Amino acid sequence: MTGHGHHHHHESMLSVEDARDRILDVFTMLDSREAEVLDSLGQVLAKDVTAPRDIPPLANSAMDGYAVAARSVTGASYESPVVLRVIGTVAAGDLPRERVTPGMAVRIMTGAPVPDGADAVVPFEETDEAERGADLSHIGIRVEVLPGSDVRPAGQDVKRGETVLTAGTTLRPPDAGVISSLGYQSVEVIRRPTVSILSTGDELLEPGDAPADGKIYDSNSYGITAAVLQSGGIPRRLGIARDNIESVTAKIREGLTSDLLVTSAGVSKGDYDMVKEVLATHGTIDFWSVRMRPAKPLAFGLLDADDGRRVPHLGLPGNPVSALVAFEQFGRPAIRKMMGKPLTARPTVRAVLDEPIYNTDGRRVYARAVVTKRNGVYHARLTGHQSSNLLTSMARANALAICPEDVEKRDAGEIVDVQMLDWPEEII
Ligand code: AMP
Ligand code: MG
Repeated sequence: MTGHGHHHHHESMLSVEDARDRILDVFTMLDSREAEVLDSLGQVLAKDVTAPRDIPPLANSAMDGYAVAARSVTGASYESPVVLRVIGTVAAGDLPRERVTPGMAVRIMTGAPVPDGADAVVPFEETDEAERGADLSHIGIRVEVLPGSDVRPAGQDVKRGETVLTAGTTLRPPDAGVISSLGYQSVEVIRRPTVSILSTGDELLEPGDAPADGKIYDSNSYGITAAVLQSGGIPRRLGIARDNIESVTAKIREGLTSDLLVTSAGVSKGDYDMVKEVLATHGTIDFWSVRMRPAKPLAFGLLDADDGRRVPHLGLPGNPVSALVAFEQFGRPAIRKMMGKPLTARPTVRAVLDEPIYNTDGRRVYARAVVTKRNGVYHARLTGHQSSNLLTSMARANALAICPEDVEKRDAGEIVDVQMLDWPEEII
């Protein structure tokens, strides 16, 4: 405990975990749809992918060389090559016409089907081809080979009927290749959620508008839209609602066509009433105090769409850092759950603090930090002043360093949990 005498107050606050659980409870995995292979990356397979045929479909050569019957080159050496008669050539994409019998060979290219009767390939380097000039009617084999040597058997990669990718797999680039290798152009994946993003406030200008006294540019809807995109959702930026019932009502109605509506601002004490009134006429909404810093105020509820659906609404705080940190903890996991992804949290590492984190009022502190690796150890330094209006402190961070609720201070040199927002290659 903090010893600040706020104990009774904390009990009315929700822990981050409780808030996240209540939010995630409402979400289920979305339905699936057929997606072209290149539109499916990062999405979760809804059905197993099985192989309609063997890959490779036929035994084929692993090298450029000569297809032979292994037993016919027994005793071959550099000093006394076994000379075979060359009865044909087969390139990748061709089908061999000749049958290889002892004493015969077929010139063969990598990937070309191995002719009947041949059971091994001798690479060019192990033959006297380079010394023969233009007449390749015969070839000297300089090594013995075992049956199967440099032959890639049919079905070595994938057997017909085999499950190659299982439902639940998040598709990555090699999977796009595997799916294509089976001849498929599309796969069944869990669809991406559409997420409407709305800013609220009379003080907000659209970037591109002329600056005006007393006004600030809307950064939240851009930061959150980008975060939705990065989380795998399909963002729909609704722009800015003004601080009046008509404007908020109209924008919220637009948002009800999505799988999730994310708003920012209007959830702190001063704005409660107006937003509450609008939301109450559209469904149910709770206003929470979450035991975290930044991003204490949070709204969450279900709004009634015209088509009977109940659309979850996540109301983030207005301060830009609070909005993004709250989106990280609550919005991103919700999107991932809708997409059928098992992993809802960012990876967390243990890092040595390079400077202290102070916790003044018993909330969990998510401090913006830069994690680096020195001598094999992760270190975290803060990105400057931790006020929730300082957006550049978030932009400079690659992680959130955590000071627990009931710890007043984490000192320099102490080890803390750090949620990685990015994983720059130089710190792996
Ligand atoms: P509010 O929750 O409306 O009291 O807003 C809290 C703070 O966040 C105020 O300083 C607002 O100006 C600021 N804020 C709200 N929305 C945005 C936004 N979309 N972009 C940048 N700052 C905002
Ligand atoms: Mg406001």
